[in-house]
Amino acid sequence: MPSAESQEPIIGIDLGTTHSLVAVCDGAGPRVLEGPSGERLLPSVIRYSQGLVSAVGSDARRRAAEFPRDTILSAKRWMGRSFAEAQALGSGFEFGIVEGPRGLAALHAGGATVLPQEVAALILAELRSWAERSLGRSVRKAVVTVPAYFDDGQRQATRDAARLAGLEAVRLVPEPTAAALAYGLGRRAQGETIAVYDFGGGTFDVSVLEVTPDDGSGTGAMFRVLATSGDTQLGGDDIDRMVFERLLGEAGLGSSNLAGAGLAPAARQALRDFAESTKIALSSKESAAVDVDLGGGVRLTRSVARSELEEIARPFVERTLELCRRALQDAGSPHLDRVVLVGGSTRMPMVRHEVARLFGVEPYTALDPDLVVALGAAVQGALLGGVRRDALLLDVIPLSLGIETVGGAVAKLLMRNSSIPAQAREMFSTSVDNQTAVRLHVVQGEREMAADCRSLARFELRNLPPMPAGIPQVEVDFTVDANGVLQVRAAERRSGQRASVQVVPTYGLTTEEVDRMERESLTHAREDMRRHRIVDLAVNAALDVKWIGDALERVREGLDAAVVDSVDQELHRVRGFIALTKTAPESVDANAFHQAKESLDRASVPVHEAAIAASLRAEQSRPQAVQSAQQESGGHTPRSDS
Ligand code: AMP
Repeated sequence: MPSAESQEPIIGIDLGTTHSLVAVCDGAGPRVLEGPSGERLLPSVIRYSQGLVSAVGSDARRRAAEFPRDTILSAKRWMGRSFAEAQALGSGFEFGIVEGPRGLAALHAGGATVLPQEVAALILAELRSWAERSLGRSVRKAVVTVPAYFDDGQRQATRDAARLAGLEAVRLVPEPTAAALAYGLGRRAQGETIAVYDFGGGTFDVSVLEVTPDDGSGTGAMFRVLATSGDTQLGGDDIDRMVFERLLGEAGLGSSNLAGAGLAPAARQALRDFAESTKIALSSKESAAVDVDLGGGVRLTRSVARSELEEIARPFVERTLELCRRALQDAGSPHLDRVVLVGGSTRMPMVRHEVARLFGVEPYTALDPDLVVALGAAVQGALLGGVRRDALLLDVIPLSLGIETVGGAVAKLLMRNSSIPAQAREMFSTSVDNQTAVRLHVVQGEREMAADCRSLARFELRNLPPMPAGIPQVEVDFTVDANGVLQVRAAERRSGQRASVQVVPTYGLTTEEVDRMERESLTHAREDMRRHRIVDLAVNAALDVKWIGDALERVREGLDAAVVDSVDQELHRVRGFIALTKTAPESVDANAFHQAKESLDRASVPVHEAAIAASLRAEQSRPQAVQSAQQESGGHTPRSDS
């Protein structure tokens, strides 16, 4: 077995609607990796300005109310969705949803129009850099988690996002399965049936799994998913939105769709943040005070009781329970040994209570619901990389896969909850005499008519010899690999004609698009950040140059010639960078510029000292009123440059 150290690490990433995490699992077990400031949660939030990325993560989240139209939140909700679907869902935020290439949903903020997978790629790239920093080596492979109920298009979008971030998604693991993996290994899996109830910010998933203990045969503990169910558009965000709308209504600003259209975007985003923090406060308190100034003389002051929040949240919680009942039924109504809670929304006492009531077991809460998915993904990474061999994961297809037949009905080849990898084959024929081509339409979903299912791909089997209707024997073969990626093959037996597709979902990206975006998007993102940094540097450096230059002229005479020389040289160097920023910004090396500015700041210390001493001397010989005016004009505030 290769040692943990010699293996290229496969990190585990929980790409969440509201925040994301990265973890790794080595000989010492799974652990979450930290960002540069010791933080473990990266808000899944990006800010753009003038078409460029200007902040990633916590800065973007913290200042969302300040830059409401420049900030993209919850991008995961629109991953792999068409513009029409996204429009029907509504944004609920201040950024725009526009039509992207081939009817895809694109997001518009701060002068940039991007696909949700490009936003996700920036989050993944940031986590990748956290991991590289912590591990001290380059990282190119990751296990990325997805909601169990993500369809093929949404999974493909996640895979594309990883690729744009320079990561190979070696496996996509459903979030509840990852949680079970973290949980099972921690408990040394004892042969149990468990349910994982995962209620996050934007999605809800439930899975029922059977965990078989290690029997010593070498495969390790076995995690078999018996059934899974969920809703990719159901989460804590929905509760926030209802609280927000109720507060708006009380302020006399309400309207359901154009929520608070009369309110400034910043006030709307601030009220949204406020709605969420009130909800969170009510998980630990019976009531919370609301006191928000909405501007324009509108102020909202009142208290919200937990029971009122529960009344608002009830329809959403009921919907999760309904999906749990379905998953239990699909799993054959087993006796449950344990229920594991995952996702921030499970911190609501009402959710815990209702889940306990439905499943008849007290929920297991020993694991931190924020970390457990990332830890499980890291365990799966270790299993795939051969670092660990103590468990085996058997997953399922979340939604049935089939082919559209005559009249628009669906012939299901693989039923939902079939274990993967999976394969199925079925024979079809023609309905018209002398048909020389057969069109195949691959769909995913539980509904009976293709129009009600999700369209995954269309392809054609051509050049068939003319035959009477019903004579050709078209064999259609579905193969789903361990990642849940579908390959469809079709062959006409009599003539030997063949055709196949690797399913690129209708609302996924084509290979060429991914290639182009990979070239453009990430380099652009880096270039955006670099340009932003250079612009900031140039602005700050110009102020430094002016102040240091002026001060130097005032005190030049009294300074050591070597000091004057060195400050002159540093000034010259920084002025050069400033000029280059204007004439040829693409050729500016941001790090060299930063160093030159720092070096100027260091060299100018004696100038500062001499200038302060000179102004003190001047103060002593001048009347009071002039003194303060002098001090103000000489004020120099340190500025950050990135
Ligand atoms: P996740 O997607 O797992 O990160 O969950 C994020 C969701 O959990 C957001 O909707 C949060 O508002 C919600 N959340 C986090 N903490 C709490 C809490 N203490 N009580 C209620 N909801 C919470």
